[in-house]
Order: sequence, then structure tokens, then C-alpha cells
Amino acid sequence: MPAQKAKLRGHHLICLNFFRGEGYSEDFIKSIYSVIGREKVEVVAGPDEVCKKCPSLVGNKCANDDYTNEEILLQDKEALRLLVYKPGDITNWETISDRLPLIIEEWKSEFCLNCKYLKVCFKN
Ligand code: SF4
Repeated sequence: MPAQKAKLRGHHLICLNFFRGEGYSEDFIKSIYSVIGREKVEVVAGPDEVCKKCPSLVGNKCANDDYTNEEILLQDKEALRLLVYKPGDITNWETISDRLPLIIEEWKSEFCLNCKYLKVCFKN
């Protein structure tokens, strides 16, 4: 039985709201759906349980082709600032999605415009 709390880093609290089933592998996609399906979310700093199934996690750092680890950490910091969370906070998807409309335009202008998933997340 999966843990009841999803442990997630800052930017995943935003980006996973727009997850459309795309990912590196079936296993990775399944793991994301399992995380999204949990009732509670615990905010963590650094690599989270999504990262732990991701081939880009190397030595506890994100080695994604599109971003440096520092850029990813900046995304986390900004996501937490905008959503008003800190590591250790416990929340849920409903509360997060209630906050999204208030912050999404700022988030988009900071991070989404150059992201390759822009068209997946924001189809219109
Ligand atoms: S390791 Fe990097 S690319 Fe992979 S899920 Fe974590 S932040 Fe995203």
C-alpha cells in the first residue's frame, strides 16, 4: 500500500498539476500518478520521490539536459515563495490548486515560457 503522503519539492507542487501522462518511462509515469493520487502532500527540499524514479537524478542532483541543478533549486524556491510553503509543511492538492490561479501568471512568465512542456501544460 503506498504511503499516504506524497513528499514533493517546490516546483513539483506546481508542475504536477499539469501532468498529462508524459514522462521518461512507464514506471516513471506510474510513480507520478501514484504521487498525484495521494491525499496529503509533504513539502520537501531537494530531490523528492518523483526525482528518485527519474533517470536525471545523479548523485542527489538533477542532471536534466534542459536545466542545471541550480536552476531547478531556484524553481523550487520560487514555487515555495509563491505558494507560501516551506519544507516540512503538510498540505493537499485541493489547497494547492486553490492557490494556483493567484500565482500561475507569475510562474509562467518566470519559468514556463522556455520550458519544452509549455504546450503540454497550457494547450490553449
Ligand atoms: S531529477 Fe530533475 S528532471 Fe528528474 S524529476 Fe527531479 S527535478 Fe525533474
